[in-house]
Amino acid sequence: MVPDCLFCKIVHREIPSEFLYENDTFVVFKDINPHAPVHLLIVPKKHIRSINDLETRDSELVGSMFILAKKMAKEQGINVSGYKLLFNVEKGGGQVIFHLHLHLLGGWK
Ligand code: 5GP
Ligand code: ZN
Repeated sequence: MVPDCLFCKIVHREIPSEFLYENDTFVVFKDINPHAPVHLLIVPKKHIRSINDLETRDSELVGSMFILAKKMAKEQGINVSGYKLLFNVEKGGGQVIFHLHLHLLGGWK
């Protein structure tokens, strides 16, 4: 847990949030400012600043993020219609929360 990290606070329930999914490794919750009818954030409990900070030992964690994204897309009923998966990386890449997260966006008509 990193002090002053918003997503660490959400993960550790210091800020109340509704989780659509939780296991030992991840939480999933809705983006507060959605850019699509379905906009979820897939967030590892482990604090990693950005994709730039990934290490080889995180390979399984990152792989699992995509497997979880696929599961959440199906649960949200957007797997067939389709969706986008997005990592913003550092400031120039649009990242504003420096705790790794995968955006799942979909549900457009
Ligand atoms: P980034 O730009 O860092 O990839 O995405 C961060 C996302 O977190 C943004 O889409 C933003 O709307 C979302 N966000 C920021 N603060 C909160 C919050 O307190 N709760 C939730 N659920 N989402 C947040
Ligand atoms: Zn964090």
